[in-house]
Amino acid sequence: MRKFSPRLARIGTEDAFSVMIKANKFEREELTPQGKKLIRLQIGEPAFNTPKHINKAAIRAIKDNQTHYTAPPGIREVRESLAKQSSKMTGVDFKLEDIVIHSGAKPSAFYTINAVIDPGDETIVFDPAWPIYASVTNYLGGTTKFIPLKEELGFQPDIEEVKAAITDRTVLMVVNTPCNPTGGVFSAEVLEALAQIAVENDLWVLSDEIYDHIVFDGDHRSILNYPGMEERTVLLNGASKTYAMTGYRMGWSATKNERMQYAIERLQTNDTSCPPAMNQWALKEAVDSPKTPAAVAEMNGEYLKRRDLIHGLVNEVPGLSANLPKGTFYLFANAKPICEKLGCNSAELADKIMREAHVLVLHGTSFGPHGEGFIRFSYVSSEEDIKEGVRRIKEWTEKLGL
Ligand code: PLP
Repeated sequence: MRKFSPRLARIGTEDAFSVMIKANKFEREELTPQGKKLIRLQIGEPAFNTPKHINKAAIRAIKDNQTHYTAPPGIREVRESLAKQSSKMTGVDFKLEDIVIHSGAKPSAFYTINAVIDPGDETIVFDPAWPIYASVTNYLGGTTKFIPLKEELGFQPDIEEVKAAITDRTVLMVVNTPCNPTGGVFSAEVLEALAQIAVENDLWVLSDEIYDHIVFDGDHRSILNYPGMEERTVLLNGASKTYAMTGYRMGWSATKNERMQYAIERLQTNDTSCPPAMNQWALKEAVDSPKTPAAVAEMNGEYLKRRDLIHGLVNEVPGLSANLPKGTFYLFANAKPICEKLGCNSAELADKIMREAHVLVLHGTSFGPHGEGFIRFSYVSSEEDIKEGVRRIKEWTEKLGL
């Protein structure tokens, strides 16, 4: 029998994609014949079109024959723009040499974790979390230590639990703020304490700041701001969320650690060689154009309105309650009373909500074990869909006698 590597059995996935396939089949086979549709409140991407000036830059780049390989870490001018933007957002003086541009932000996580994790090593992940950090750690033979994000602390970790989880095999800590799926933002005190733990235990830090522009109260705060962070941190960022550019697949790593920068670049050379040339020019336009701030502010203004709308509506649903999200476009709702009433877990609950209320949401456990009893709503959808989706769930829970 020809073999497959046992590693493959350990790689995870993103349920956001598999749930969508299941939902499309359900809608096609069960609902469409009855003239009904699902309301989709699970989507993890902006529902807005990419701003026109950014699309024009991509078209211009193709017309200018920017259709060839670029240097593996990306085009110098684009890296320079990203260095400036990353410096502005984090307070660290990034130079173009510190930047590697990728096909999406996802490779930044894949390459960083590949660069540091060996079998038996441990990664600290605050849970619930974007599933890729644990998936890649486990794939490499490492172990993921899940530290709960506490709903009662506004989805922040208890620092004593973080300290207690560190062992002599802990190599990496992943920090994602603003956080997918909780919509939480880590406080200055939590970031400072995490930075101290990283320094004291000589850990690498992967700081996923892909939602850095979608913060509703005050400015974005980065762990890179704290002493000792520069040489041990990889900043993960990308264009997908801020500029509604998911299909462009543009992201980047920024690190002041030269060996880490070299490792990420090497891994990329072995993988995709370089990111697509024309998309890099579109990314430069997104970051540099004077038209961009207004376009981003318009989208964020809509997210803010929809956040307030969904937060109010969800809290009126019997059996559901939710913190007010401080960033991102997700609301993580506590559905434990409904799970208890039905005797089901959060995956079964999300499936029932799809089949019986005809609304698509994601189950909390698709983001880790501490997501049990929660469901994630995304509020990128139109106000109309948000109102109708939550109305359907409310009607359904009322019928359950909640
Ligand atoms: N990090 C987080 C927390 C995310 O939610 C996502 C996308 O959903 C990414 C990284 C990756 O984004 P992309 O690869 O689309 O740039």
